[in-house]
Amino acid sequence: STNLNETDGAVMACIKAEEKRQNQQIELIASENIVSKAVMQAQGSCLTNKYAEGYPGRRYYGGCEHVDEVEAIAISRAKQLFGCEYVNVQPHSGAQANGAVMLALLQPGDTILGMSLDAGGHLTHGARPAQSGKWFNAIQYGVSEDTLELDYDEVARLAQEHKPKMIIAGGSAIPRHVDFARFREIADSVDALLMVDMAHIAGLVATGSHPSPIPHAHVVTTTTHKTLRGPRGGMILTNEEAVSKKINSAVFPGLQGGPLMHVIAAKAVAFGEALEPEFKLYIDNVVSNAKALAEVLQSRGCDIVTGGTDTHLMLVDLRPKGLKGNVVEVALERAGITCNKNGIPFDTEKPMVTSGIRLGTPAGTSRGFGVEEFRLVGQWIGDVLDGLVESPDGNPEVEERVRKEVQQLCQRFPLYH
Ligand code: PLP
Repeated sequence: STNLNETDGAVMACIKAEEKRQNQQIELIASENIVSKAVMQAQGSCLTNKYAEGYPGRRYYGGCEHVDEVEAIAISRAKQLFGCEYVNVQPHSGAQANGAVMLALLQPGDTILGMSLDAGGHLTHGARPAQSGKWFNAIQYGVSEDTLELDYDEVARLAQEHKPKMIIAGGSAIPRHVDFARFREIADSVDALLMVDMAHIAGLVATGSHPSPIPHAHVVTTTTHKTLRGPRGGMILTNEEAVSKKINSAVFPGLQGGPLMHVIAAKAVAFGEALEPEFKLYIDNVVSNAKALAEVLQSRGCDIVTGGTDTHLMLVDLRPKGLKGNVVEVALERAGITCNKNGIPFDTEKPMVTSGIRLGTPAGTSRGFGVEEFRLVGQWIGDVLDGLVESPDGNPEVEERVRKEVQQLCQRFPLYH
């Protein structure tokens, strides 16, 4: 049989249940999105059967003529989308992309300077438990205590003091635009390489909503599944031929074996979608929706870190309401709203507790929510938080009412028609 329902009911039941969860809940996890049916179709295709170690035209296996073509399409669309010369679409994930850059351009023990996890950076930028923090002398910068925005003066000071071989810009919880020209200036002042990880903002960069790192960085990495709305995966971009050669060798055979050709096909489809005018409209909506949500949450007594957002995400400081991120995450889940607890800069709570939550609009906007819907979502979050202020267990009636209203809204905006 070709029907998963008949051949493997156990797995099919999980998939169906997850489909229902995604349909009936409002997804506010800033790093998630909802891909098109076309992206899913490419990813669920027979290309998963194919081994294709190597690169288009230079493979270690026969029968690669069609996957060669699909990888070439992905590369050429990515170049057009981001205006750059060389692209590697093979990294299996964002972490793999970052690992490949380090393998290509650094030696174990080298000094790197990246943003700390608690200030909004990513594990792969030199955090202690990660390979980047274990195999390199990782120095970390943060945000300014006054503005909670990226502290470029600190980056410059640490660069002068530690003379890193590579500076890493970008992160997972940065609500404001990053000044890549400033980063390059700092990198040049100490002869360091500049790597930009644009994983979160790639969709915004593609449409010009966020300034591009491509003209400034020696190398740019990204995931393809966040604001870019493609399949789960990674990618590396550069304008420098010498860097691109080292990157290609680092991805394969350095770090990975066979590329995931079905995922590369899905990346090609997503890049094609991102080149369409509708994608710019989508990203513009993602950003205006984020601003609207932030405003409502401020009006309901939360602080928004840096006072707002220029991007798809915001960090909600729950301290004015006397609440913790872990408790709020679970209460919102009960009410049908999914998000993640997140440390706020200079958070004194443990990472499993936190004083904040991180919210993003990419997934909700993909299912068609506009400013009006996100204002409603903001009010519902406010209601659930007020319930928690009344009682540490929350207000069950309020949570039940919100859950019903969430479901009604979700029914009006189904994931896959
Ligand atoms: N870089 C940044 C800035 C991220 O936010 C993430 C994921 O959240 C990654 C890299 C890692 O991507 P992946 O989960 O695909 O390994």
